[in-house]
Amino acid sequence: MRYAPPRREARSQAVMTPLPAPFLRRSGPGASPAGRAVRDFAWAGAIVLPCALFAVLATRMLGPLALFWPANAVLLGMLLRHPGRATPAAWLGALAAYLAADLAVGTAWLPTVWLALANLAGVGTGYLVAGRVLAVGAHRLDQPRAMPSVLVVCLASAAAEALIGGAAGAVVFGRGFVASLLDWFNGQLAVAIILLPPFLAAPRRPLHLLLERLRAGPQCRREDLLPVATLALSLACAVVLGGPGVLALPVPALIWCALRYPVFPTLVLTASISVVQLFAIAVGLLRLPDSNFLYINSVMSARLGIALVALGPMAVAIVNGARNDLLRRLDHLARHDHLTGVLRRGAFFERAGAILADLAAAGRPAAVLMIDIDHFKQINDRFGHAQGDRVLAAVAAGLQAGLREGAILGRLGGEEFAVLLPAAGASEAWLAAERLRLRVAALSVPAEDGAGGSVPPLSGLSVSLGLAVADADRPPSLEALLAQADAALYAAKAAGRNRVERAA
Ligand code: GH3
Ligand code: MG
Ligand code: MG
Repeated sequence: MRYAPPRREARSQAVMTPLPAPFLRRSGPGASPAGRAVRDFAWAGAIVLPCALFAVLATRMLGPLALFWPANAVLLGMLLRHPGRATPAAWLGALAAYLAADLAVGTAWLPTVWLALANLAGVGTGYLVAGRVLAVGAHRLDQPRAMPSVLVVCLASAAAEALIGGAAGAVVFGRGFVASLLDWFNGQLAVAIILLPPFLAAPRRPLHLLLERLRAGPQCRREDLLPVATLALSLACAVVLGGPGVLALPVPALIWCALRYPVFPTLVLTASISVVQLFAIAVGLLRLPDSNFLYINSVMSARLGIALVALGPMAVAIVNGARNDLLRRLDHLARHDHLTGVLRRGAFFERAGAILADLAAAGRPAAVLMIDIDHFKQINDRFGHAQGDRVLAAVAAGLQAGLREGAILGRLGGEEFAVLLPAAGASEAWLAAERLRLRVAALSVPAEDGAGGSVPPLSGLSVSLGLAVADADRPPSLEALLAQADAALYAAKAAGRNRVERAA
C-alpha cells in the first residue's frame, strides 16, 4: 500500500491538528441538510443494530446483560475514523438502534432506556476524550506514541458506561452497586482494548484493498503462513491444557505475526484470538480455577488479563510497522534526489551496475546515455536559482516520461543525468536518445518573476546526449561505458549542442 512521500509529509503535519469538536461536525457537501441527517442516522444505526442484536441474542447466556458487547467499541472506532459523521443525527441513530435491539428481545422499557443511555455515555465520553488526547494523524494508530492515548480513551469510555450501567445493575437488576459497576467496567474495558486498535489501524478502504488483493491472486510464500499456523496450534494447545496460564499461550505466536505481517492484519488476528478466548471462557471451553476475591471473580480477572495480554502483540505490531515505514522512507530518501525524484548517483551506479552485470551474463546488449542540459548556467543567471531548480525538475520528469519500462535514470550531479537502456542495441538506443532530446526541446516550464507573479513559461530548452553501446561479446564495466558516453557528450557540446553523438 505504499510509499508516497508528499502525502506522508501532509500526514505528519496533520498529526499536530486536534480532532474537531465532537457533536458539532457537519457531513460533507452534496446532500441537503435533511438528506445528510437521514444518512448519518442510518449510518450509525446500521453500525449499532447488528452488533447489539448479536450481543443480546448470542451472548446473554448467563444473566440479563450480554457477555460480549462490541457495539460501543465498534461505533466509537467508526466515529473516530469518520469524525465528519459525528452529527446529532448519528447519535440519535445510535440511540434508536440501542433501544430497538433491547426492545426486540423483550427487555422492559426502563432497563432498555437506562442501558441505552449508558452505552451512549460510554461512546460519547470516549469520543470526547479522544478529541483531547488523540490527534488526527494518530487516529490511524501508525504511531507507537498513540497507544497510551488509546488506552486512556478505553478507560474513560468504560468508566462512563460503568457509572451509569452499574447504577442500572443496582436499581433495575437488584445487584450490588460496586459489583455491578466493576463487572460493567471490566467488561467494557476489555472489549474496547481488544476492538478499538484494529479499527484505528484499518486502511482507508479495507474492503476495496482486500478485493484487490484477492483479484491479484495468492502472493504469499509458504513460510508466510507459519506464524498463523503456529497461532492456531497454540489455541488448540490452550483448549487441551486448560488453567489460567493458557491465556498467554498464543502470545509468542502473535508476536511472531506482529514481526512478520503488516499492522492491520496483526491487530485483527490479536483481537480475534482475544474474542475467541472470551467466548471460550464463557462457554467453559477454557477451564479456569474458581476464585472470588473482593468483587473480582475469575471470569472478570481472566477478561482483564486477555485484554491486557493482547496489548503486547498489538504494541509490537505498531512499533514494528512504524519502524518498517521509517526504514522505507529513509531508504527512499537515501536513494532518490530530493529535487528531481530520480535516483542519486550512488543508487544509479548500484542498480544500473547490477542490471548491466546480469545482461552481460545473459549475453545481451545494453546502452548508456550521458545527458547534460545546455547553457543551464544562463538560466540560473537570468531567471534565478529557484527557476533553475524548476527547470531541472521538469527536464528530469520529461526524461523519465520518455523512457521505456526497465530503463534506469539517475542524476549524476548538477544538470547532468545518465540513463541505462537494458537490452538496447545501437539503433534502438539512438532512437531512444533522439526521443529524449525532442521531448526536452518541447518542454515548457512554468515560470515566476521572483515575486510570485507569473511570467510566460520557459521554452527553448535543450540537452546534449552522449551514447555508448556495450558489446554483448565483450561487455565493459558501467564506469567504462559511462566514460565513453561522457566523451561522446563532449563531442555533442562541441558540435553545437542539442544533439546526440555516439561514442567512437
Ligand atoms: P553547457 O551547455 O556547456 O553544459 O553549459 P552549462 O551552463 O549548462 O554548464 P555549466 O557547467 O557551466 O553550468 C552548470 C550550472 O548548473 C552551474 C551550477 O550553478 C548549476 N547547477 C548545478 N546544480 C544545480 C542545482 O541543483 N540547481 C540549480 N538551480 N543550478 C544548479
Ligand atoms: Mg550544461
Ligand atoms: Mg554540466
